[in-house]
Amino acid sequence: MALIVHKYGGTSMGSTDRIKNVAKRVAKWHDAGYQIVVVPSAMSGETNRIIGLAKEIMADPDPRELDMIASTGEQVSVGLLAIALQALGKKAVSYAGWQVPIKTDSSHTKARIASIDDVKVNADLAEGKIVIITGFQGVDELGNITTLGRGGSDTSAVAIAAALKAQECLIYTDVDGVYTTDPRVVSDARKLNTVTFEEMLEMASLGSKVLQIRSVEFAGNYRMPTRVLSSLTDPLMPLAEEIISGTLISFEEDTNMEQATITGIAFNRDEAKLTVFGVPDKPGIAYQILGPIADANIEVDMIIQNQSVEGKTDFTFTVPRGDYNKAMDVLNASVKEHIGAGNIIGDSKVSKVSVVGVGMRSHVGIASQMFRTLSDEGINIQMISTSEIKISVLIDEKYMELAVRALHKAFGLEAA
Ligand code: ASP
Ligand code: MG
Repeated sequence: MALIVHKYGGTSMGSTDRIKNVAKRVAKWHDAGYQIVVVPSAMSGETNRIIGLAKEIMADPDPRELDMIASTGEQVSVGLLAIALQALGKKAVSYAGWQVPIKTDSSHTKARIASIDDVKVNADLAEGKIVIITGFQGVDELGNITTLGRGGSDTSAVAIAAALKAQECLIYTDVDGVYTTDPRVVSDARKLNTVTFEEMLEMASLGSKVLQIRSVEFAGNYRMPTRVLSSLTDPLMPLAEEIISGTLISFEEDTNMEQATITGIAFNRDEAKLTVFGVPDKPGIAYQILGPIADANIEVDMIIQNQSVEGKTDFTFTVPRGDYNKAMDVLNASVKEHIGAGNIIGDSKVSKVSVVGVGMRSHVGIASQMFRTLSDEGINIQMISTSEIKISVLIDEKYMELAVRALHKAFGLEAA
C-alpha cells in the first residue's frame, strides 16, 4: 500500500474547525487506500506567542529552555488532530519527536536531523492507524528536546517521508503552489505544475518563501517527490483532482519540463552592500576581510573584487540587510586597522533580482536579454553573479518591483 506524508502549516491548523477540515481530508485519503503519516505545525501564532513569554522574562533565554517551550505548540496540534480523526471513526495515534524517536544534534533552536526510527511508525501503519508526528522538533543524544529552526516542520515532513520511503510528501499550505514570481508583485504570475528541486532552492533562497530551504535540500538529497498544494480547498474535493494540484518539486531527468527557458523571477528586497576601498592586492586579503564577517555569523552572498590599480583594489560584498550594521562594525574594527585599507562605504537600500531556470543550461543569450530589459527600463546594475541555472543582479531597491515585472514580461512568464 502506498504511503503518503501530509504536512499542514500553522494556518491550516489555525482553529479547531480548521483541524476538523484537516481530519476530513486525511480521512478521505485513508479511505482511498493510502497509508498516511501527518506532520502538522503549531496553530498559527502559537510558536511566536510562547517564545514571546520566555522573552518577557529575559531578552536572550537559554536555548535549551527555549526549545522546551517552542516545541510544545506542535504537541498540542498532533493531539488535537488525533482526536479529530478519532471523532471521524479513524484509528489515529500522535507522537512527539522524542517518542519516534527523531534524533538530532544538540544545536538548540537550529538542530539538524541525524536519524529517524521507522519501527514504531511502520507497526502502527500496518495496524491501519493514521500516524501523526510533531513537526519542528526532535531529541538529542542526551534526551534534550531540540527544535529545527523556524519553519522547520517542512523539513520534518520531508525527512520523515524520506525515512519511511513514502511515495510523495504533500505540503499543504495557504498558497496553492509555486508561482513564476510573487503574485503580489506581478498579478499575472503563473502557477507552475512542476519545478526542479534545484530551481526551487534558488526560488526559495531568493525570497519566494514557500518552503523552508532545508526541506528542499532534503527533497533533493533523498529524491523525495514533494508537492506544495492548498489546504484551503474543499477537504472532500475529488482525490483525482487533488493528486495533480499544486506544484510538484521533481527531478530534472524524470520530468518532461515545461518548455520555457526561464522558470521564474526570484527576488530579495532586503540586501545591503559594503565596499572596502584601497585594499592592498596581495594573497590572503579576501580571507582577512571576510573571515571576521563569517566569524560574526554573517552570511555573505555576492562578492566582487576589482582589477587592481597600482597594487590597490576595491572589494565589495553583500549581506542580509538585518546584518548591515553589524557587518559595518566588524569591518571598521578589524579590516581597516589590520589591512591598512582606505574608506569603507555601504548602501543598505539594495535588492537582488534573479532569473532562474534549468533551461538556461541549454540556452545562450539569457544574460544579454536580462541586461537589455533592465537597460530599457533605465535600471542600473550594481553587481552581477551567475550560476548554471540563475543570473542575479543587485539594484537600487526603488526599482526592484519594476525590474521583476519587466523581466517577467520579457521572458514571457505570464499566465496565458
Ligand atoms: N511552529 C514552528 C514555527 O512557527 C515550525 C513551523 O511552523 O514550521 O516556526
Ligand atoms: Mg511554514
